[in-house]
Amino acid sequence: MNQLFRSSHNLIFEGKTLEPVSLEHNMVGFCSRCNQDLISLAYHCTESKWLVSAHCRNEHLVLMCYDRQWSWQGDFDLQICTEKVTVSTIDREKLQAVFTQAEIRDMTACQQGLPYTRQNLYRARAKYEKFEKLFGIKIDV
Ligand SMILES: [Zn+2]
Repeated sequence: MNQLFRSSHNLIFEGKTLEPVSLEHNMVGFCSRCNQDLISLAYHCTESKWLVSAHCRNEHLVLMCYDRQWSWQGDFDLQICTEKVTVSTIDREKLQAVFTQAEIRDMTACQQGLPYTRQNLYRARAKYEKFEKLFGIKIDV
């Protein structure tokens, strides 16, 4: 399944991660499932193709494939997914403003599949909303 990431608009296509070349919203056709207008979400390119991620107002998603001369090649399935925030990549000072050292250690350990103390993670989870409000970063561990 091809995947488009919600915030970065990176596309996973045939196992490769492609960065968007454009995020223009254009009318690019009609939805094959409900006949509504299809609006582009992002444009990506490979050496031989243009790939256009698009959706209709009913949230049907499609990945349209064109050659470099913009001849249509076919449509593929597409899925939108949300990036998982990796705790270890969040600025330490931001984490420390909300979480204790033990909570940070165990959130990181849990995400890395290492042993952790459950209680610390529970305590940390109770603060995720506060952290999101302060820094706009949604943690999901
Ligand atoms: Zn549709």
